[in-house]
Amino acid sequence: MIIHVGTFLKKLFFIGTTDAMANANRTILRAYLVMASLYYAVMVPVHFSALSGFDQFKMVSVSLLAAVVAGVGWFLSRAWLSSNRLELIAAATNFMVYVNVMVAVHTSLDASNLIYFPMMALAFAFTSVSIRLAIVSISIVLLSLYIEITSDFVGQGAAYGYIGFATAFVGLAFSIFLQRTISLAIEAKEVAEKKLIEADRLNVAMHQHAMTDSLTGLPNRRAFFAFLKDKSKANNNKADSWLIALDLDGFKMVNDVYGHLVGDELLIAVAQRMQLHAGSKATVSRIGGDEFNIILDEVESESECENWCNLLLEKIAAPYDVEGRLIQLSASVGSTRINQSNDITVYTRNADYALLHAKKHGKNRSIIFTEEHEKNAKERFEIEDALRLANFPSEIEVLFQPQVDLNQNQVIRAEALARWDCPNLGRVEPDRFIKIAEENGLISKITLAVLGKAIETLQNWHNPIPLAINLSGHDLLSNQVMDEIIKLLVHSGLDPKLIEFEVTETAMMADTEKACKNLYRLSRLGHSVALDDFGTGYSNFNYLRELPIDKLKVDRSFVTDVGNPMTEKILHSLSVTANALGVDCLLEGVEDEIQLLMAKRVGANSVQGYLFGKPMGSEELLDVIKDQNILKSRSA
Ligand code: C2E
Ligand code: CA
Ligand code: CA
Repeated sequence: MIIHVGTFLKKLFFIGTTDAMANANRTILRAYLVMASLYYAVMVPVHFSALSGFDQFKMVSVSLLAAVVAGVGWFLSRAWLSSNRLELIAAATNFMVYVNVMVAVHTSLDASNLIYFPMMALAFAFTSVSIRLAIVSISIVLLSLYIEITSDFVGQGAAYGYIGFATAFVGLAFSIFLQRTISLAIEAKEVAEKKLIEADRLNVAMHQHAMTDSLTGLPNRRAFFAFLKDKSKANNNKADSWLIALDLDGFKMVNDVYGHLVGDELLIAVAQRMQLHAGSKATVSRIGGDEFNIILDEVESESECENWCNLLLEKIAAPYDVEGRLIQLSASVGSTRINQSNDITVYTRNADYALLHAKKHGKNRSIIFTEEHEKNAKERFEIEDALRLANFPSEIEVLFQPQVDLNQNQVIRAEALARWDCPNLGRVEPDRFIKIAEENGLISKITLAVLGKAIETLQNWHNPIPLAINLSGHDLLSNQVMDEIIKLLVHSGLDPKLIEFEVTETAMMADTEKACKNLYRLSRLGHSVALDDFGTGYSNFNYLRELPIDKLKVDRSFVTDVGNPMTEKILHSLSVTANALGVDCLLEGVEDEIQLLMAKRVGANSVQGYLFGKPMGSEELLDVIKDQNILKSRSA
């Protein structure tokens, strides 16, 4: 109980002494100060004219002093002040008011002047910046009133004493009510402010979460694009920033071999090294998987950018110790200058294009996007866009190139080769669109279109000869595409011997096991399989034995080098290899009689090349087959 009374009193007395409370009261205090200053300023000439002699001097002096003190207080309190200073200003003004009342009461000695005491008590109660100041000021007023009543005004001032006493309580009650109200308002404001700050903090945290990659803590894809947009705008006049696209080489393998946990640890370690190298000069973002984008600043020259990238690649290539395992990893980068383009996708496209080149040219290297690239890229993007819009069944034409058996001297098969009649770009040769279609996966639509047309052609021929269809890696590695291919084959009702498939080693490299499984699906149906462009890939015999291969198609590059004695030896050993594996050997690219002779010498079973015809329409091919005499005369 005692404690409660204590805390209550403490609270009561100290209410309003906090800076926040005092300053909330400042407006009231300043109204009081300006009124007091004006009142006493007016009283100066009033006293001057109404009084004379020493009384005049006394009253004019104290009025003037009160006007000045209140005025100075008003001036000082125009901005935020500490609670102590505000209390001091209020106390000084109260004191000057008190002095004026005391001097006035003692000058005229009229009991009616005692009314100033209750008025003063009320004024102090209403205008104090703290309750303790109100209590102290009012107590002094009451005490003085009591002294006056009991000394100078005995028998005349009792009524004023009662009024003063009552007024003091009214004033104090009002003061407590006012201060309490102000204090509650401040508390409410403080709570609201706290909540606002909390909400702001939450907002910032949420924004940061949305912009951060949770694994590495780097800015994420969204943050990167926002940043690139700003950079592109800021770089309107100078072009000393670079966008660097980075992709780890063979990271998928790390994940497959060591598991995703180790993969994650490795990504974190790589991100740390990148950030260390970046310092304040560059911003690294993780775009996804093992792809990162960097914005490098304040680099004028291409060579400087190149050096920076090479140093980064060196740092990434140093071994990593992940959970006791020593892992080595490299990366490829492509960079482009950030200049005045409004379309930021141009930068990412160009950097990715340069990155693709870095990957193609052996990885673990840095390539800068050049004007030459720009030209090629433009064409590539044009083709890429057109491929996306293409309707392959109507736009693809299939040409056929004869394959000639060297024992029978006749056309025994033809390879189906695609030509694309794009409505926007005109006729596009396979060398220009096949690679791009392979990279974006659209190749499978082309494969299905070519297969469909080949089947149609075979169904239209009276005496059909087998056709060879090219399959890409994307086809072989997609069970869904293989299902569609098999559905087409089965539905055609054609003898499986009429359709051969050509695959390259590189097409199967990404996942040999899966490719092998899918090849077996075709060979079990009765289709033969040829290994295309043989000699340019791995040519690993162990794995060749595992594949259901019926033929090796030796790459054209061997035949072109016909004058070189080494070439003939290599070709000979390739044909021996085919023999050893129990498969046929076909030589591609035979353009003249000398090459044909060599093909025979090295023991090839069949040939394909311009000597017997360029890729042609089906009618033309039928003519060639009919006119087999030409072949007979050549082989004579
Ligand atoms: P490829 O499968 O190696 O096809 C042989 C290419 O060599 C053909 O080029 C053919 O015209 C060319 N060629 C044949 N004989 C000679 C010759 O004596 N001299 C020279 N200089 N060239 C000769 P084409 O038709 O331009 O096809 C290029 C490549 O495009 C093909 O190489 C193949 O990889 C790809 N391709 C074409 N059509 C398709 C298709 O339907 N699907 C897939 N996946 N790829 C295709
Ligand atoms: Ca081929
Ligand atoms: Ca080939």
